[in-house]
Amino acid sequence: MANIELRHVGKVYADGTRAVTDLNLEVEDGEFLVFVGPSGCGKTTALRMVAGLETVSEGEVMIGGRAVSNVPPRDRDVAMVFQSYALYPHLTVRNNIAFGLQLRKVPKAELNRRVEDAARTLGLSEYLDRKPRNLSGGQRQRVAMGRAIVRQPQAFLMDEPLSNLDAKLRVQMRAEIASLQHNLGVTTIYVTHDQTEAMTLGHRVAVMKLGVLQQIAPPQVLYDHPENLFVAGFIGSPAMNFMIGTLQASNGGHSVVLGASTLELPASTLAARPLLSDYIGKQVVVGIRPEDIEDAALARGGPRSGSTLSGTVQLLEPLGSDLMVHVNADVPPAAGLADLAELGRDTDPGAPLSDRSLVIARFNPRSNVRIDHSITMALDGERMHFFDAASGEAIWDRPSAGTDLEDADAPAAAGAPTQEF
Ligand code: ATP
Repeated sequence: MANIELRHVGKVYADGTRAVTDLNLEVEDGEFLVFVGPSGCGKTTALRMVAGLETVSEGEVMIGGRAVSNVPPRDRDVAMVFQSYALYPHLTVRNNIAFGLQLRKVPKAELNRRVEDAARTLGLSEYLDRKPRNLSGGQRQRVAMGRAIVRQPQAFLMDEPLSNLDAKLRVQMRAEIASLQHNLGVTTIYVTHDQTEAMTLGHRVAVMKLGVLQQIAPPQVLYDHPENLFVAGFIGSPAMNFMIGTLQASNGGHSVVLGASTLELPASTLAARPLLSDYIGKQVVVGIRPEDIEDAALARGGPRSGSTLSGTVQLLEPLGSDLMVHVNADVPPAAGLADLAELGRDTDPGAPLSDRSLVIARFNPRSNVRIDHSITMALDGERMHFFDAASGEAIWDRPSAGTDLEDADAPAAAGAPTQEF
């Protein structure tokens, strides 16, 4: 096992496409790190540079303290699990799992023992003599995992290994991968575009946008303390609601004007975000997660004054445990910000500025709200997020921990399904 370091790593493909910019991070020995971000954000490229399947244009990749940028994939002692499973169709499960060991001329008795151990760990013992075509998707995925674990590598590198499975199997295999990694304690980098997968699997999650690392933190920290609008909007489902508001000083404290409503901010919010004082009289983007909005009619002791927003119910989605309520709220939406455009949530910049935003709230299912009726929502002021309207950076008590940049070029090694290293 080993730690993995990316030091100022950048990638420019031969056609000039910049895929990764100044990626700087360390995956600790035994850690499970997930790269997440929308399609094209450079997460696969980053993983393939660690594997050695892409050259590094700038910076250095270190595995176990050794610089490996010039070390071929098969000498890096890492095992990759591909989305395609990369199984050899003409070989049995046993031989698929054994393949890497045979290449390395591992003695027969040890090879058999390791293959059978891996098969037992993955519940594949009774399928060892089958060919991949006679296995289910989940079993094929397990064989791909078997090929990785039998090698006892220093690290696992997994590229969307669950995306070919149906939703139910994905959840099951996700749990299996988590417990396998926990039991084996092997340093793992896992790539996915699915934020739920990222949050449930990662000890830490690295969120990427357009080749640039946005934030790397444990899942709950990303959720509670996103450092910019992009991370705030990407992590969480349904996503955080964003509105435009203006901060003002009032009664010795602060309040935020959202359309026709003025919401008083609790002292604790200001204590957690002292920088908010610099924004008095300025526009900010206000973020609030669906679960931090409640039906004011159900609020204990009635809605607290200075904490409500009004609107009209557009849609109800009863989930049993919760009621998702889509509200056309009397608040101007956040628009024209690059982070929101990147999330596919920007409104047309040419359109007349709307004075209403769609707000999604997660209500208690006992709520009696009805479609087309007006509604009062109680917002938890302690759970509000604030972002600089120009930069999209979260407003905290310190400058946001950003990342730095650089550049260069490179060819590409094959990502063929039969690649073995
Ligand atoms: P996805 O989830 O869709 O696989 P990703 O986040 O993994 O996306 P990458 O596959 O790393 O993103 O791609 C990052 C950028 O590099 C994209 O703009 C992509 O089009 C580009 N890219 C990837 N491979 C090559 C290549 N061989 N040559 C040129 N550009 C490439």
